[in-house]
Amino acid sequence: ETSAKVIDGKRVAKDIREEVAVEISRMKDEIGIIPGLAVILVGDRKDSATYVRNKKKACDSVGINSYEVRLAEDSTEEEVLKHISEFNDDPSVHGILVQLPLPSHMNEQNVLNAVCIEKDVDGFHPLNIGRLAMRGRDPLFVPCTPKGCIELLHRYDIPIKGKRAVVIGRSNIVGMPAALLLQREDATVSIVHSRTKNPEEITRQADIIISAVGQANMVRGSWVKPGAVLIDVGINPVEDAESPRGYRLVGDICFEEASKVASAITPVPGGVGPMTIAMLLSNTLLSAKRIHNFRTVK
Ligand code: NDP
Repeated sequence: ETSAKVIDGKRVAKDIREEVAVEISRMKDEIGIIPGLAVILVGDRKDSATYVRNKKKACDSVGINSYEVRLAEDSTEEEVLKHISEFNDDPSVHGILVQLPLPSHMNEQNVLNAVCIEKDVDGFHPLNIGRLAMRGRDPLFVPCTPKGCIELLHRYDIPIKGKRAVVIGRSNIVGMPAALLLQREDATVSIVHSRTKNPEEITRQADIIISAVGQANMVRGSWVKPGAVLIDVGINPVEDAESPRGYRLVGDICFEEASKVASAITPVPGGVGPMTIAMLLSNTLLSAKRIHNFRTVK
């Protein structure tokens, strides 16, 4: 039996998409502006193509115009930079997203640096990350997946201030910004990574765990303090003969065990996953509002 409350990311993401759609139609009515998101996809990775397709669908569903550029695997970095520069100058585009990973012959840092920070809806520009890390500074955008994790905590009224938080994983796109965000919310944050000795001793102290590793069921029930809140970012395929595809997706956290110990837990799928795209839509709206000085009415 599950004693933990299951955090319904799918429902929260739907609520957010509806809120975004309302604001977009108000913006269109009042100032005639429609937010636009440009996506650049290089190469033919199937997973990347799926993510891009889902982002486009989500844009359509809330009334964001989407612009897509697809480049061949063997295209040059210069070509990618040229498209970024055009989108930087295009007033109908408010957000620019380069689907990662890029082919290995391209320099990811050069490409991410080229996106103007006012349109950096993924929040991956080093200036936005730097501002996230600094006291008294604010990034223009926060990366979508970690922002989605914090938004889940907020919408479930889970207090963060003064709590002990442990982030497992330190990638630029999830773990590191998640730790920075928790710290900005006044949690006391520890980071566990692949060189951490006895990670379970650290996670057992956590009131809140955000796991972004990519290892199926790594976090066992015994790693979790009773009553802790667990946010599982991991998406890992495991063999499943009963599934028509031959596999199913699980998180980093062993749901079966951990849900008996925790007070709240996100499922995989249906937890953090849907929040990521909802945050992308919300960042794109935020960008259009800021560029056109359109305010929220409260
Ligand atoms: P990365 O591979 O970039 O980073 C993984 C991190 O986990 C690294 O910091 C690594 O440590 C750490 N790590 C690896 N093995 C261990 C271990 N045994 N113990 C402790 N730490 C370990 O992955 P991402 O951050 O990009 O993604 C993480 C997971 O989240 C993946 O499953 C991915 O599919 C999923 N994901 C989900 C998203 C969503 O929308 N829900 C969005 C993005 C990612 P080190 O730094 O030492 O190498």
